[in-house]
Amino acid sequence: MVEILSGKDLKDIPGIWYRKGGKLLKTPQRAPLEPSAIPIPAWDLIDITAYRSYEEIVIDKRTLGPMLAVYSSRGCTGSCSFCSTWWVWKHWRQISAARFVDEIEYLYEKGIDHFFIADDSMINTCQFVEAFSAELQRRNIQIYFKIACRADKITPTIAHTLKQAGCYEVHIGFESGSQRILDAMGKKITVDQNVRAADAVRQAGMRVYALMIIGHIHDDINSINETINFLKMIKPEVVASMNGLMLLPGTRDYQHAKREGFISDDFWLGKEPYKIYTVAFSEQELSDVRYMIDNQKKILSRRLLPIQVQVGKKLRFLKERMTGLLGRKPAGLYRG
Ligand code: SF4
Repeated sequence: MVEILSGKDLKDIPGIWYRKGGKLLKTPQRAPLEPSAIPIPAWDLIDITAYRSYEEIVIDKRTLGPMLAVYSSRGCTGSCSFCSTWWVWKHWRQISAARFVDEIEYLYEKGIDHFFIADDSMINTCQFVEAFSAELQRRNIQIYFKIACRADKITPTIAHTLKQAGCYEVHIGFESGSQRILDAMGKKITVDQNVRAADAVRQAGMRVYALMIIGHIHDDINSINETINFLKMIKPEVVASMNGLMLLPGTRDYQHAKREGFISDDFWLGKEPYKIYTVAFSEQELSDVRYMIDNQKKILSRRLLPIQVQVGKKLRFLKERMTGLLGRKPAGLYRG
């Protein structure tokens, strides 16, 4: 954008498409940006206190305030069949722990102590996690945060260090309880590794947030049962992403669905924002499975935690947010 706005000749700007004389032209691929070359976002241009967590989190009897998303890395070491991260962002790379804490410190001084470290995998190296934790301690910064990561990167040591640094929840892309499906996805992770990761997170005193896919191309009733049994075994505090396989352009699963005739590139010219794969299972079947898993959640134990999620308050909190956003009470929602 900077190069375009500076008036540079479009043909000399790598990584763009442009029109010339009625023709659509593409310039050569642009080298991936190193995150260390990107300045800290201009947080001062927005009202940072307006950004909230989707639930009310109470830790040490204190309700956490606004939550901001920050990033320490780009890319991923995985290459899963449904995911666009690894080919959009290319190879995984990370800024230094000190540079990352600079941004957190800046926000901390402005009153923010609640973060979602939204990298696809912030914890690829133990050294980074240790340096991050030490840097927070050295600067006397006390924050609360959640992260997302691959299961094969969580070890008991890393989990313990994260907890010490203020982490209360770890989002893990377990995806499936079936080894056959994990292999078909190219996840390069075993069910055992997933179980060990969940154990490590919980042993350290954090919540497990399970990211799952139901209705993958190769899913059948047996693999879905394996997924349900897996969830029963690991008892995650939160189960998310049960809405089916979202087809992201360019991914291997998208190419597969195109070959099957389930989707074409013209889909993106329409009004729908996304498409869920419903060949292996219909929308109704996916919805039934989701309903069943939602009910299972009621029997999942919520052992541990130094945090309490106040469910009653969560509804009120969401209602207030909706009212604030819409400028009126949402009709038909949260009756009573
Ligand atoms: S699903 Fe997760 S592990 Fe797989 S490529 Fe995407 S970000 Fe990486």
